[in-house]
Amino acid sequence: MVPPSVSYLGRLAPSPTGHLHLGHARTFWLAAERARLADGVLLLRNDDLDAIRFRLDFVAAMFEDLRWLGFTWREPVITQSSRLPAYRAALAKLHAAGLIFPCTRSRRDVLEAISAPHEHAAVPAPDDEPVYPPQFRPPPDAPLPPLGEKITVNWRFRVPDGEEITFHDARFGPQRAVAGRDFGDFLVWRKDDVPSYQMSCAVDDAELGITEVVRGADLIKSTFRQLLLIRALGHAAPAYYHAPLMLDDQGQRLAKRHDSLSLRTLRAQGVTPAEIIAKFAAETT
Ligand code: GLU
Repeated sequence: MVPPSVSYLGRLAPSPTGHLHLGHARTFWLAAERARLADGVLLLRNDDLDAIRFRLDFVAAMFEDLRWLGFTWREPVITQSSRLPAYRAALAKLHAAGLIFPCTRSRRDVLEAISAPHEHAAVPAPDDEPVYPPQFRPPPDAPLPPLGEKITVNWRFRVPDGEEITFHDARFGPQRAVAGRDFGDFLVWRKDDVPSYQMSCAVDDAELGITEVVRGADLIKSTFRQLLLIRALGHAAPAYYHAPLMLDDQGQRLAKRHDSLSLRTLRAQGVTPAEIIAKFAAETT
């Protein structure tokens, strides 16, 4: 529990799917700075639900890299794979409220439907979920099958079509998106019985009492989805600050494949944490 004296609770939420790079470090540094300026506290959340890309050695490496850079957080670390009952309870709540539906369509079905000549839905950016074709939705009054003990089908959140969702981003200012147009019915639970990133993240931010989420600007669209989930679950939403993404020399966004900019590589080359942090601090002044 957070003592009442802490009015700012932030989080660092790395995924153990590769080595952290300079872009992660800058986002986490901004998160730490915002917590420090607000006299607040950070939690560390280990987003370890991606079973395919997960590696145990990445977990150890990410903690070590964060410590090396001088970050501190309140223990214990929150590990998503140990919070499955909380996500499952949230899913049951959405199910009871009739806000989700089972979906047996593949990503390919969805992409084919939206690229059909008579459809005008935007083709998604490569790393974003396509807008779910409304013709694939069951009618709103169709009875929902039970969730079952083990989930073997994808479940999606039915977005409120046409509703404008807004939030104020502490870095980028007012943000808006229209549900059903800018993003569609999104995954909350996967058929391999794991919650989606949107679901686990929304439940954690809300239930752990995070007051401000600081993360990369690539997640702005996810924020709209998570705001809908947080509202549907009856929680208050945190504030948001999205950090600009770091680009490489070719103007490409840094990814875990940029090994040359991984913190490990920089460290092996003799770069010090002080040099890294001084560079971030110089950029923001
Ligand atoms: N673990 C997520 C990632 O590394 C970040 C989630 C978040 O900050 O909401 O992309």
